[in-house]
Amino acid sequence: MKRRNFIKNTALTGVGISSTSVFSKSILNELNMTQKYPVAVATWNFQNATKMAGTMLEKGNSALDAVEKGVMVEESNLKNTTVGDGGAPDRDGNVTLDACIMSPDGNAGSVVYLKEIEHPISVARKVMEETPHVMLAGEGALQFAIQQGFKKKNLLTEEYEKAWKEWLEHKEYKPIINIENHDTIGMLCLDEKGDIAGACTTSGLSYKINGRVGDSPIIGAGLFLDNEIGGAVGTGMGEAIMKSVGSFLIVELMRQGKSPQEACEEAVMRTIKKAPNYKDFQVAYVALNKKGEIGSYCIHKGFSYAKFYKGESTDNLSDSYLDE
Ligand code: ASP
Repeated sequence: MKRRNFIKNTALTGVGISSTSVFSKSILNELNMTQKYPVAVATWNFQNATKMAGTMLEKGNSALDAVEKGVMVEESNLKNTTVGDGGAPDRDGNVTLDACIMSPDGNAGSVVYLKEIEHPISVARKVMEETPHVMLAGEGALQFAIQQGFKKKNLLTEEYEKAWKEWLEHKEYKPIINIENHDTIGMLCLDEKGDIAGACTTSGLSYKINGRVGDSPIIGAGLFLDNEIGGAVGTGMGEAIMKSVGSFLIVELMRQGKSPQEACEEAVMRTIKKAPNYKDFQVAYVALNKKGEIGSYCIHKGFSYAKFYKGESTDNLSDSYLDE
């Protein structure tokens, strides 16, 4: 029986959760790279971002600098309509951005509902480094960004403004699973010293209710790391990730001895157990441990993660998933 069918048949009975470890061995053989430093890994096929980060790591830059510069590539990419500049607006036409960053020393910074700033990840880093706080929101986050020298910019592209106006005609609000070339970028970097840093940045769900904030800027949900253990990032339906504090859970499971793959699997299983409508949304995780081992698991087929290792950039389709 194929792994995914086994899981499909057993997951909701509760047997699946305890049985995953038996099957994880084979997946571990596929995914375990037993690689040495450095490595950059990110949600979805954001290879330009992992290439930027990985190249920086190979030149000896820190994981923190690499992860910030890496995700900035997607924040500036107008073709990516769920991150940074060119991001999808909410249902009132506002582009509002969420981002967070964590450094190897356990420090964290975050911005939510930030408008008109192309690089929310860099503002999150400033929150982490220049204030005693972790999170700034909305108008206050914007004021802080401007004080820190960031320039305001209109982030709503003409194309997206047109699409939003068309959307207003029918106002359908439902998640669309695995649209190509989109979605939040969560990235983890392991540098040559063996330190891990992480970042997560998004414009959130298209046409969300004004004021809605998802998992991506929430430490423990869209991103968590402990430099003694490893890190995890999530993407997909933010509400499901927040309710299970998914990235924190994965790091804690790795602390208990699970591999990144096993930990991602268990986090997905916990999410779907509490969400009978899980077939209607995607949740995907990527985890990285101190040895450079990578794990990834998701609810639906179609999720891939990008990796940069030893000068090589790859798109790794997660053939490890729960259901089609
Ligand atoms: N997790 C993001 C959110 O809910 C969306 C995504 O990953 O595409 O805001």
